[in-house]
Amino acid sequence: MQPSMFNLRVPLEGGDEVFLMNTLTDAQLVVSTDVAALLDRAAKGEFVGTAMASPPDDSERQAWDVLLENGFLVENRASDRRALDDYLTGVKSSTEELNVTLLTTLQCNFACDYCFQGDHGDYNLHADKMSLETAGRVGDWLERELDRVRPERFVFTFFGGEPLLNLPVMYLLAERMWNATESRGVSMFVNIITNGLLLTPAVVDRMLPYGLNGIKITLDGDHDTHNRMRPLRGGQGTFDRIVENIRRVAGRCRISIGGNFDESSVDSYPALLDFLKEQDFADKLVKVNFKPIIRAEPLQPKGIIPLTPVGASRKPLNGTCMTSAGAGHGSTCDSCDFLDDKMSFLRDETRRHGFTPHDGVHNGPCHVHMQHAHTIGPDGSLYPCPGFTGQLATSTGHVDDRSEPVREAARLKFDRLDPWKECGDCAFIPVCAGGCVANSHTQLGDMNLPTCHKRSFESALISLAHTAASAA
Ligand code: SF4
Ligand code: SF4
Repeated sequence: MQPSMFNLRVPLEGGDEVFLMNTLTDAQLVVSTDVAALLDRAAKGEFVGTAMASPPDDSERQAWDVLLENGFLVENRASDRRALDDYLTGVKSSTEELNVTLLTTLQCNFACDYCFQGDHGDYNLHADKMSLETAGRVGDWLERELDRVRPERFVFTFFGGEPLLNLPVMYLLAERMWNATESRGVSMFVNIITNGLLLTPAVVDRMLPYGLNGIKITLDGDHDTHNRMRPLRGGQGTFDRIVENIRRVAGRCRISIGGNFDESSVDSYPALLDFLKEQDFADKLVKVNFKPIIRAEPLQPKGIIPLTPVGASRKPLNGTCMTSAGAGHGSTCDSCDFLDDKMSFLRDETRRHGFTPHDGVHNGPCHVHMQHAHTIGPDGSLYPCPGFTGQLATSTGHVDDRSEPVREAARLKFDRLDPWKECGDCAFIPVCAGGCVANSHTQLGDMNLPTCHKRSFESALISLAHTAASAA
């Protein structure tokens, strides 16, 4: 027996205890240092040749058995690798969940500085908006998928652009799919990712009977910072109206706050947290999470590179609204927890204010690695995740099942993704899988290379360890 390559260890305050985590089994233990030392002794081969290849001492053997049961000890490196392959194959082919993100429109009523949609004055005149006819074809395809995949649950996320700019399509598909899932005995959960400006109790009440699970709303800092980062297209601020809308719908459904920060706005987040904490709806917020705005750098030489937020002069990743860069309950892309030194500071601040952030460790494998997760564009094109929308070359199909070599080639390419193969023995592979593939595509020009946010994982692990220790 030897320690698993997926073991992680954080010494706890006082020095007598250690937090152990195995990222493959997700086992988390707070143990005394002598139990953790058993792993080091096993690594040195101390128990090879003993009866049962384990410590002879009874009390040590009990601890040994716990480590074994929880995957901290494995037969050898090959068995660890096999277990990883089985896990990733299982994630990829799982039929438990059919997960679909629908972009009702690419139009937006905001003009966020960091958004690729915000830099064209006439963008909204031409941006795609799903027609009711296309929505009908989407419904047909979704029902075919329900019959083909036979999932236990259907998670349906409305996104954009600003999804609430196309309410008829949202209502039509939510109602149709609710009936379709009901008749097939499938649970349905609806999420909406919105800028919050058009969010009203009427919208919430209309969606509640169709499985509304959560709404994620973006606030990019305190009042003044948010108004600078997320103005209306006419330049007016949006903070007060959004907060008022949250107040009006809070308590009717799960609300999470997501925020995107860059170097100019990050310091305003504690003030936003102070503000949120004072609001009468504070206890209704199920999650509060902030992420760095990632802007596309020019292509880098191939290799594993650290991912860093860059200056405000460069434009972000392609794809849909940058609001997706933020985890909330059931958000589109809960995996985009990018590297940044400020992340752990904001995570701790969020906790300190009494809100729940994403733990920053459980980030993947993300939707791009799942055969039954899809993003649907306003024209009915299928994509593997929101980070690849808008380009024919990254579309994996179409809801009308048309056969086109370019989409078929993309589908095969995404089917063969395995960027973690370049990650060696990194213990974070089961919770990272090589990072954001959309980012690899944009930054490295090769989606099969990892974009590494290991530093962010390491700092998140320390926070997780301290949280686990205080709860133990
Ligand atoms: S590839 Fe990137 S954008 Fe796409 S789901 Fe994964 S983390 Fe999100
Ligand atoms: S991208 Fe980095 S953190 Fe993620 S699995 Fe690879 S080496 Fe580990």
